[in-house]
Amino acid sequence: MKDHFLLYNKLNEYFGDLHWWPAETNDEILIGSILTQNTSWKNVEKAILELKKDNLLSLPGIAEADVDAISLRIRSAGFFRQKASRIKSIATRIVDQYGRIDAMQSLTTQDLVGFFGGLKGIGQETLDSILLYVFNRPVMIVDTYTRRIISRINYPEEAVDEKIMENALSDLRHSISVLKNYHACLVELGKRFCRKSPDCTECPLNSVCNYAIVLSSP
Ligand code: SF4
Repeated sequence: MKDHFLLYNKLNEYFGDLHWWPAETNDEILIGSILTQNTSWKNVEKAILELKKDNLLSLPGIAEADVDAISLRIRSAGFFRQKASRIKSIATRIVDQYGRIDAMQSLTTQDLVGFFGGLKGIGQETLDSILLYVFNRPVMIVDTYTRRIISRINYPEEAVDEKIMENALSDLRHSISVLKNYHACLVELGKRFCRKSPDCTECPLNSVCNYAIVLSSP
């Protein structure tokens, strides 16, 4: 499997620091991580603005609000009733148990996984985003973009999630900020170049991508 450090350097050279996750507080990241499920970031931004207008972008605020009031403000993010009820239930659990999310920073990663992993609405990808972006734990997020890009780069070797995580962490775990930006760069690459039908000619990884090399060989 190709070295993630090499891939990151190429991506960072091309995209620079993408400043992901774009939020002012950890409460906002957590709420955003639920809102972003099955929708585009543009729709999440609209929902976040609506919540912000009414001071509902904090976990204590959400815990006190009723589900209908939350639903109304997050309509743009889709599945709004389900998301509103999940956000409220997660916020309530955190506020009841810890008061605020930053009081959870001292928990071990295992405890955080135990807490968040058991909550409705938090699948593997959301859990990993929370661990990395809220709690600064060394985690490699494997989403659809990452899976597709790493599979093509290592073609024909199969890119299994556990292997991607293990290798990326062994290459990059020394820097949380690199892990954060690596994920952001892979998402950007997936949107701009490595789509279902890839545009390899302009892709910054084409010199190290087996798929592109095979495609361009006579
Ligand atoms: S070179 Fe092509 S296949 Fe490889 S990562 Fe870039 S867009 Fe995807």
